[in-house]
Amino acid sequence: MMDDFSSKKYFGACPHDCPDTCAMLYELKNEKLARVTGNPDHPMTRGGLCVKLKNYEERHYHPDRLLYPHKRIGKKGSNEFERISWHEALETVSNKWKDIISEYGPQAIIPYSYLGNQGLVHGLNGGDSFFNKMGATVCERTFCGEGSCTAYLSTVGPTAGLDPESYIHSKYIVIWACNSVSTNLHHWAIVNDAKKKGAKVVVIDSYRSRTAKEADWHISPKPGTDGALAMAIINHIINSDLVDKDYVSKYTNGFDELKNHVQERSPKWASEITGISEDDIKKLALEIATEQPVGIRIGVALERHNGGGQTIRAVTCIPALTGSWKHVGGGITQFPVWEHPYKFDVICRPDWIPKGTRVVNALQIGRALLGENIDKSIPLKSMMCWNANPVTQAPETEKIVEALQREDFFLVSAEHFISDTASFADILLPASMGAEQEDMILSWGHLYLTYNEKCVDSPGEALPNYEIFRRLAKLMGYEDEQFKWSDEKCLENYVDWAAPASKGITLDYLKKNGFARLNVGCKDTRAPHKNGNFPTASGKCEFIIKNAKNFVAGPFRQMYDDYQPGQDLPELPDYVPPNESHGTNPELAKKYPLNIISPKSHAFLNSCYANMDDKQKVQGDQFILINQIDAKNRNVNNEDKVKVFNERGSFEGVVKVTDDVSPGIVVATLGYWRQLNKTGTVNSISTAKLADMGNAPTFSDNLVEVSKIS
Ligand code: SF4
Repeated sequence: MMDDFSSKKYFGACPHDCPDTCAMLYELKNEKLARVTGNPDHPMTRGGLCVKLKNYEERHYHPDRLLYPHKRIGKKGSNEFERISWHEALETVSNKWKDIISEYGPQAIIPYSYLGNQGLVHGLNGGDSFFNKMGATVCERTFCGEGSCTAYLSTVGPTAGLDPESYIHSKYIVIWACNSVSTNLHHWAIVNDAKKKGAKVVVIDSYRSRTAKEADWHISPKPGTDGALAMAIINHIINSDLVDKDYVSKYTNGFDELKNHVQERSPKWASEITGISEDDIKKLALEIATEQPVGIRIGVALERHNGGGQTIRAVTCIPALTGSWKHVGGGITQFPVWEHPYKFDVICRPDWIPKGTRVVNALQIGRALLGENIDKSIPLKSMMCWNANPVTQAPETEKIVEALQREDFFLVSAEHFISDTASFADILLPASMGAEQEDMILSWGHLYLTYNEKCVDSPGEALPNYEIFRRLAKLMGYEDEQFKWSDEKCLENYVDWAAPASKGITLDYLKKNGFARLNVGCKDTRAPHKNGNFPTASGKCEFIIKNAKNFVAGPFRQMYDDYQPGQDLPELPDYVPPNESHGTNPELAKKYPLNIISPKSHAFLNSCYANMDDKQKVQGDQFILINQIDAKNRNVNNEDKVKVFNERGSFEGVVKVTDDVSPGIVVATLGYWRQLNKTGTVNSISTAKLADMGNAPTFSDNLVEVSKIS
């Protein structure tokens, strides 16, 4: 049979908020995107895409896709819009912003974006130069991993650490707070290959996730207590004389202080806090110290509670204590992005930010829009949102929804669909999707540069995000050359092509090959800290940090360095208890006795895809996993409809009674749309309180109650 796909295949890159950044191949039929597959030549993608992307072309031509600019004609949130021209849309936006700036100053406007697209040109930072030029309030975006960054960078510096591909050489693999099967699939494939070669796979997670079910050993600490487990592992390694003394003496700082400090953090002490037996803690510590090479993969969930930063400090110390770094396949993987050669200063232009510009944290946007935690003399009067959906993804949803209904508030939304946030917009701008725009997609999960080629025109009148900013810059009177750069020119300027990591790689090479491995060593020989060489001030792994202040890494705050959180950081890692637990807040726990965890959904990517029928079919309706003891105490049976609630809000779902969760814990995955759920989402109950480091979220540090809906 004749295959009428285009004979030419185009290089793509998955743009989504996923560490795998798959290299893809686009194929066309009749000048439309018709097939998207994983690039078989890419050593991590290996030809496969996950359930979310496997029919990516259908997302491009989905009947609900936003194709034209619109203005609101009904009540905010009513989804009543009228089509307008790009000219009218952008004139309306720029005129409104000019009025706001003349009355309140530019800080009355705030950008809001995240990793709905990870492109260097059209992604998270795509509008930063524009808003920094404007002098708008800086938005600090700490949804996912930023506390982890603060902790990790303070301990070992900006190293890519253990190459995810080197796990093929690991003999013992610890996946800590990561549901790899759903959120890091291509690393899981490598872990599985190592398993077939005899590696033992241990998953540490507070519930039995898809990944935990596949592990050789699942260890399940109570939510928010991983720090106690890590400290007890350190205690047992030190007190059982399992330390690699030579490595520690040559390549670390602060061992004696750490040794003294952990004496009270025994396995017995941790057992009471975590619910893991003392024997299991000792066994885990022993194996981590002796089954080399040991690879530790930490997930973003590890930071999502009050003491997340300190937890990651403790875990990051372990490979140096045991000398795992000496081995290929040994060490820790946080975000390999630290060795990618991106020029964020050029992308964001922090030099354009006026001195004294304030910062608002994205997780606390509801509070800020309601005037709770900002200078009331400069109220926030407008926000532009791209690659983000705070109504679904940010905590304290009810506050955000209340704020977005303010009649005096002007919301601009660049989107693919009328998301929960876009439904409140005054002006909707249709944004291009992956195959419709040129970009390079950064990866925080591997060591390749990945190119995405434009191969089709956008349907309707959708435009790439950076083109929207180019046009807005012109209307706002910003004449800088940067706003005239083509997408290709941006890529030439946004990557440090002269950096050692880029050696041998050019933009032309990427255009011809789709991806390129960075010049950072080979997976089969790479042991980056075999001889120390940590990119810290001392060149060593810092068990102890002195005079350090809390900070958020630059790319997550438009590269602005003023008004960092700035609190003193503790010198040594430790266990910091959760805010909301029976132990730390017994009064609250009387009213709301269940800890809720809200991991990512298997078939949605954050809130992307939750509006697509085929993904909904895989994912099912919003469900709540509950243990049979807790279900019985509440007279709840399998498939009953329940309400989950606390003082911040509520949402509804269908119960699944299971021993995948322990008594006292419920699990509800995130990403479901409020418009479709009709009742709120899991973030209706979550707090915007920030964790101990990097202003990280505390999504897994919330108490709730569950009751049957009769
Ligand atoms: S979401 Fe992740 S695993 Fe799925 S295709 Fe994209 S990069 Fe690959």
